[in-house]
Amino acid sequence: MSAKVWLVGAGPGDPELLTLKAVRALGEAQVVMIDDLVNPAVLEHCPGARVIRVGKRGGCRSTPQAFIHRLMLRYARQGKCVVRLKGGDPCIFGRGGEEAQWLAARGIETELVNGITAGLAGATRCGIPLTHRGVARGVTLVTAHTLDDGGPQWPALAQSGTTLVVYMGVSKLDEVRSGLLAGGMASETPVAMIENASLPEQRECRSRLGDMLVDARTFALKSPAILVIGEVAAQAALAALQRSA
Ligand code: SAH
Repeated sequence: MSAKVWLVGAGPGDPELLTLKAVRALGEAQVVMIDDLVNPAVLEHCPGARVIRVGKRGGCRSTPQAFIHRLMLRYARQGKCVVRLKGGDPCIFGRGGEEAQWLAARGIETELVNGITAGLAGATRCGIPLTHRGVARGVTLVTAHTLDDGGPQWPALAQSGTTLVVYMGVSKLDEVRSGLLAGGMASETPVAMIENASLPEQRECRSRLGDMLVDARTFALKSPAILVIGEVAAQAALAALQRSA
């Protein structure tokens, strides 16, 4: 494998949800730069690599993005095979696109490798069929944190008829709830809040849009968690079946 940067999704946490391609890239890697939402257990696939932790969780001490860019560039220019390992999928709220463009502009070959994104993993693990036929006509992945001024367009999302999967929403539950209610979404709309999806510590809290703030507080919901909002989140029977399997 020639010197290049692989931007690899490590999936949501369960090491068995790694793709074969991710395992192959890890096996070839000389340098692995790892985000803090990545389960360190996946490092068993790169025993010979130098591992650099560059995590940056919201609110915690962080490695500046510019530093991560320069580090990837430095190792790639040394001819090293670099794996940049990110939680979930590198291109779903993961800056995979930005990093690939930045490196490409400097003549570094990159390859993006899919990971299973937390929103899809969490829902399926809980037996929630995100696009259940006749119940949801699609699914929208959205972050509660945005760089642009207006924030997410909750009214439009409320009217979309799709299941909403909200990333980075734990500190924004109030805004999510009031935005969707203001947009006309019924307060009885089912909500599932899924913490540590796919990990042994996974917990899920089932609620309704109107009650989600109170329920999340009682439950002591913590990040990382995704919110699934829509009729499909009431598929409790399926979840029960899944758990007993
Ligand atoms: N690229 C990642 C998302 C990074 S943004 C992906 O595709 O999954 C970080 C957010 O992802 C967290 O705030 C949380 O909303 C979600 N997340 C990541 N891992 C998670 C997990 N194991 N369980 C629940 N949510 C998770």
